[in-house]
Amino acid sequence: MWPNQKISHFLINKNKSLLVIFILSLFLFIPMSYHNVYQINNNIVYAEETVIPILTYHNFTKDEGSSYSINIIEFEKQMNYLATHNYSVISLSELLKGLKNGQLPPKPVVITIDDGFKSTFTLAYPVLKKYNFPATLFIYTDFIERNSNSLTWGEIKEMTENNLEIGSHTLSHCNLLQYKENENYENYLARIKKEIFLSKEILEIKIGGKVKFFAYPYGVYSPTIINLVIQADYEGILNANIMNNTLNADPFSLNRQIIFGNNSFNSFIQILNQQPLHTSKIFPDDGIIESDQFIKIGAILEDNNYDVKTLSMKLGGAKVGFTFNPENNEISFTSSKPLIKKSYIINISALDKNSNYLRKKSWLINIK
Ligand SMILES: [Zn+2]
Repeated sequence: MWPNQKISHFLINKNKSLLVIFILSLFLFIPMSYHNVYQINNNIVYAEETVIPILTYHNFTKDEGSSYSINIIEFEKQMNYLATHNYSVISLSELLKGLKNGQLPPKPVVITIDDGFKSTFTLAYPVLKKYNFPATLFIYTDFIERNSNSLTWGEIKEMTENNLEIGSHTLSHCNLLQYKENENYENYLARIKKEIFLSKEILEIKIGGKVKFFAYPYGVYSPTIINLVIQADYEGILNANIMNNTLNADPFSLNRQIIFGNNSFNSFIQILNQQPLHTSKIFPDDGIIESDQFIKIGAILEDNNYDVKTLSMKLGGAKVGFTFNPENNEISFTSSKPLIKKSYIINISALDKNSNYLRKKSWLINIK
């Protein structure tokens, strides 16, 4: 859709032909520019932000889907939707390059598949090949060749030769914030260093190429862990914060959307169209370790592009009662009971003011 009304207004002009040429050239140019797509809603023309959903899958099945296992027909339906609706499925490497030079193809989407299930090769890979879609597999090395449900190194190697990248998902898929019983700080640090550094080395030897990306098991991280991953020379880090990325995304903090096997097709469309909910402040900060079990959690919302009446806040997937102050647009939640000591993905969402799609802000806090 294009802003035709506005254009026709300008056409009543003496320099008509020149203007027509000018406007036509704009029309030729706008669809090729990578930044904004202009849409009309209720006669208001507004710039819609470029969003980059990074989709995450785990297991694939011929049976009915469940949370972490998607039916392969459903997966193919989703891939077909991307192909027929002009999405540009790009690799994480292409995304990284695009973020550096500020240019991405129209409607960019990234596909990632976690853990290293056999079905990645037997079910998903043929579909990805059919559509010529790149994807990144996040492998935890201990799982490979463990049993009949896991990938083999041969299968991984074959996929890397056909458009698929490999990233590290640690050695053992451990929660990187958790200490083992009777473990002191020194031993803990040595152990998680190994999870981050050695998994990269093993993968690089096995595939004979560079491993550039790291994804946290369970989406759990802290500033110390982020620094270790950067020290290990990874170029991009993926979390599990439930929102789409924008052109100014930090390569060391890329958000991912898990596609659950028991969600509706409509929720897939919702994710592709989800916009960011802008904030000028979040509290506490992303990824920090907090000891106060009654800590006030929230954000100061920016812009006027969300429907206040539809605001919702979740902590670790559970809806919480929040307060909203319209004076300064602060949304916050303070628990009346001590919060259980664990990591929480915080999720604030509201409907976009001009569409039926959600706007979301999501980050992580660790209560320890
Ligand atoms: Zn995983």
